[in-house]
Amino acid sequence: MKWDDVEPDFRWYPVSELCSQMDLAANCWLLGGIRATSVVIASDIHAQIYAHLGEKSVEMGGLLLGRAYGMASDQGRVVVHVTKSTRATSFQGTAVSLRMDTDVWSSASAASEEGEFIVGWYHSHPNLGVFFSGTDRKTQKSFFDTEYSLGLVIDPVRDEELWFFGGDSQQLNSKSILKY
Ligand SMILES: [Zn+2]
Repeated sequence: MKWDDVEPDFRWYPVSELCSQMDLAANCWLLGGIRATSVVIASDIHAQIYAHLGEKSVEMGGLLLGRAYGMASDQGRVVVHVTKSTRATSFQGTAVSLRMDTDVWSSASAASEEGEFIVGWYHSHPNLGVFFSGTDRKTQKSFFDTEYSLGLVIDPVRDEELWFFGGDSQQLNSKSILKY
């Protein structure tokens, strides 16, 4: 974890703050199973993303907002809490490609409350299966290259999803994701 490297308006929260918002079972998951990077996503936001991506059989996407939790004394432990999502309202989606318009960034900023930041992006692969294409990896590298940056790809037809994080698009184990 490089504390000097983060954007000026970004801040890490102590993981104890997240623990205090969660029940015992979720805390056990958090403390027992925590890996280099873990994700907690609000169940309603998860459902909202699936509803959005299920609307059409073309690639669609948006941004993920939330907070990043970590401890300076606990290097490498990052928990990203996804609390909101913003859909890209204008996009060029075909069956195999997606270009998110820049206005999604400003609508994400407008939707973010105090302490919430853009923590990643999501997009769909309708009936193509879940993976990160070369273009997806480039997008991740160019725009989501910090250790708390998430990339979520969902196939709403096959009901599959995969999570990636960091500039090198490392794949997250499904055990590192908690819908809460
Ligand atoms: Zn893709």
